[in-house]
Amino acid sequence: MNSLSKLPSVDRLLSHPVALPLVDEYGRSLVTRHVREQLANARLAVKEGAALPGEATLLNDIVTAVHQAGRARLRTVFNLTGTVLHTNLGRAVLPQEAVDAMVAAALNPCALEYDVESGGRGDRDDIVGELLCELTGAEAATVVNNNAAAVFLLLNTLAQKKRVLVSRGELVEIGGAFRVPDIMQRAGARLVEVGTTNRTHLKDFAQAIDARSAMLMKVHTSNYAIHGFIHAVPEADLAALAHAHRLPFVVDLGSGTLIDLAALGLPHEPTPQEAIAAGADLVTFSGDKLLGGPQAGLLVGTKELIAKIKKNPLKRALRVGKITMAALEAVLRLYRDPDRLAQRLTTLRHLSRPEAEIRAAAERLLPALQSALARLPVVVEVVALKSQIGSGSLPVDRLPSAGLAVRPSGKRGAGVLHRIEKALRQLPQPVIGRIADDALLLDLRCLEPRDESSLGKALHAGAFQQC
Ligand SMILES: *Cc1c(COP(=O)(O)O)cnc(C)c1O
Repeated sequence: MNSLSKLPSVDRLLSHPVALPLVDEYGRSLVTRHVREQLANARLAVKEGAALPGEATLLNDIVTAVHQAGRARLRTVFNLTGTVLHTNLGRAVLPQEAVDAMVAAALNPCALEYDVESGGRGDRDDIVGELLCELTGAEAATVVNNNAAAVFLLLNTLAQKKRVLVSRGELVEIGGAFRVPDIMQRAGARLVEVGTTNRTHLKDFAQAIDARSAMLMKVHTSNYAIHGFIHAVPEADLAALAHAHRLPFVVDLGSGTLIDLAALGLPHEPTPQEAIAAGADLVTFSGDKLLGGPQAGLLVGTKELIAKIKKNPLKRALRVGKITMAALEAVLRLYRDPDRLAQRLTTLRHLSRPEAEIRAAAERLLPALQSALARLPVVVEVVALKSQIGSGSLPVDRLPSAGLAVRPSGKRGAGVLHRIEKALRQLPQPVIGRIADDALLLDLRCLEPRDESSLGKALHAGAFQQC
């Protein structure tokens, strides 16, 4: 018991030169809490027979605990997974133009719902409405929190207690939480499955239409592909059939790019303007997939249907804030200049980055990773890789890429790879790679050139010796 009294006091630890910068950075109450906690731990350990910890040890543990508890949870990471639009890593990385617009809107009052001309109340959708119409050829547009919300809102507005006809081949699940049949049910609509999984014909739709039908819907099968004996009805035919029965034809595109990706040497992805031109009355797509903007759900279509959707009280519950609006407007404005888009829009720049440029970055970073892992039983080399677009876009297409591969040099297998992978995740800015084909792979497609040297330094400073 006596030895416990030799533990330093809370006040003594708090005013120690090692603890003072912590108080400065994180505030007194957080540091005090951790000082108390470490002292309590020490008391418990001593009672169970451990030696009395020295002051330096206590302070060291406090510093570690406070840094860990005090740092932000939403941390920036290096995305070296090879997936450009990685849903778990926040999807699209925004261009500087969007960042500047968000900062300005965040720091200042802005005319979110204020008509500066008339001095009266405005509509937040007007901020991007004209741009969206100009870029897609639609008559009207509205914006909600994400594409799942856009689909939900349109079904809830136009198909409550009615039937929605969808091809069996298009009953998509996106990342578990978004399934077309579930959204349909929650929106109060009845799903009518038309045709078969691999083949659906116009006559299947024609036969399924009755007085209870609310709309014909096409869901872009963005995250899988069916090959072989298949048939899907062209959009223009579905639109004509719907219109002959005075029903709307709606398209959920998922990933919506506003340019022809083939022009950048990428596989073609259907665009909202194609769907509108084919006769779609409403098209929904995501803001943060191929569009390369903030998380948002965009609805474009006829004046009449967009007006109905905007009158649904749920629109208010699903609307976006000024920060999103600022970023979205800035991104859409970049689309007005398609010639420079692939350089200015981060997502497109990453997607269209030449393999040779990525390989050159890998060659430059190779020495840093080799020296960081020098004492471990591994070999590091530059390898050819295949990146993917991600977020359910163009699921079967792979982009030729390059990066670094770490492989065990001995026969001892993958254990060391998992330890290195973990150590990379524990760097101050976590480095996220992937383990595949008995190697730890770091795909450098998404590493911005300006971040190359900081990644090199981080690898250099990393403590990999214990791996
Ligand atoms: C991604 C996707 C959605 C969901 O969009 P979020 O923006 O993630 O809410 C809906 N439908 C399709 C076809 C998709 O690809």
